[in-house]
Amino acid sequence: RLHNTIQELKGNVRVFARVRPKLLRDHTSQVARFVYPDGLNRDGGKQIILESSTTTAEGKSRDQSYNFTFDRVFGPDSLQEEVFSEIEQLTQSVLDGYNVCIFAYGQTGSGKSWTMEGNSHSGKDAGMIPRAIYHIFNTTRKLEDQGWSFAIQGQFLEIYNETVIDLLGSGEQEKKHNITHDKSGTTTVSDIVVVPLHEPNNVQDLLKKANRKRTTASTRVHEQSSRSSSVFSLKLQGKNDVTGEALRSVLNLVDLAGSERLDSTGTLNDPIRLKETQSINKSLSSLSDVISALGSSNGGSVSHIPYRNSKLTYLLQNSLNSNSKTLMFLNLSPMQDHLQESLCSLRFALKVH
Ligand code: ADP
Repeated sequence: RLHNTIQELKGNVRVFARVRPKLLRDHTSQVARFVYPDGLNRDGGKQIILESSTTTAEGKSRDQSYNFTFDRVFGPDSLQEEVFSEIEQLTQSVLDGYNVCIFAYGQTGSGKSWTMEGNSHSGKDAGMIPRAIYHIFNTTRKLEDQGWSFAIQGQFLEIYNETVIDLLGSGEQEKKHNITHDKSGTTTVSDIVVVPLHEPNNVQDLLKKANRKRTTASTRVHEQSSRSSSVFSLKLQGKNDVTGEALRSVLNLVDLAGSERLDSTGTLNDPIRLKETQSINKSLSSLSDVISALGSSNGGSVSHIPYRNSKLTYLLQNSLNSNSKTLMFLNLSPMQDHLQESLCSLRFALKVH
């Protein structure tokens, strides 16, 4: 792999939209009109149309339809397996030495955690994190026959109010974690737990531990996890004793903070919520700025990419450049009540696409 290859990153950013099903708890509300003009079969539709009718001041009803095209659109019945089959190749790129970032963007309750982690770590409802890890394990095993040996490690962080929290750390008192990048393009976060992953079972333990900390940490306020972004990173190091080749790469799977705009009046009266809102806005807008900057420059002048504007983009600096690959899941709620948020999400995705 050539480190200085200048590629247009835009070609490397893909966006997949996924609409979750209507849930039992949605019973009181109406489903919005999502139309999938190319269908939703295995070969994949790319278009999504959102139809809405509003009542004008004169009492007339006005129909509007919004048409968006992405790399792939998944409807409410899509299976985790089906979604993973579309990102399997991207996961494979990590074994070719690329750094890869997979993000889930959307309002709280739109299916980000379902997509990234799923509701179990094995079986049909397992999400992208466990599937990606199993895929990498299986592939490395096969490559061992060709002289390769690998070391795989995992870390799981959360960014809340522009502060890094170690989801695998066990101390009562959260340490201060500094992010540094060395010349070889390796990112290190100080004082965090990095777990060696020798077999797929290690992954389940790791995810369980992170979830426990996400939900029980003593500093946690209600629903805080929807206001933080979690970043799971799988670090892969490999060498081939036969050919002398070596590779070092990272796969990052990021469940972003909820993108919903909080009620501004309520927020202004509550300093905690205000700070959270500002931090989330900073993270999400920096992310879109970085991705857009990469897409609009020739990909060569990294000095102009505004990584430093947020902790999230700074942490992912080495995985968001002209030599890396990025995928964004755009998670959408199917409900009429969430239509405005869905439109905001769809428009955000167009900015990075
Ligand atoms: P978020 O992480 O965006 O806040 P969740 O992933 O927690 O949203 O999803 C909200 C709810 O919807 C959860 O109860 C989740 O289990 C359910 N859900 C989301 N997507 C799907 C899906 N594709 N199939 C079945 N249930 C889903």
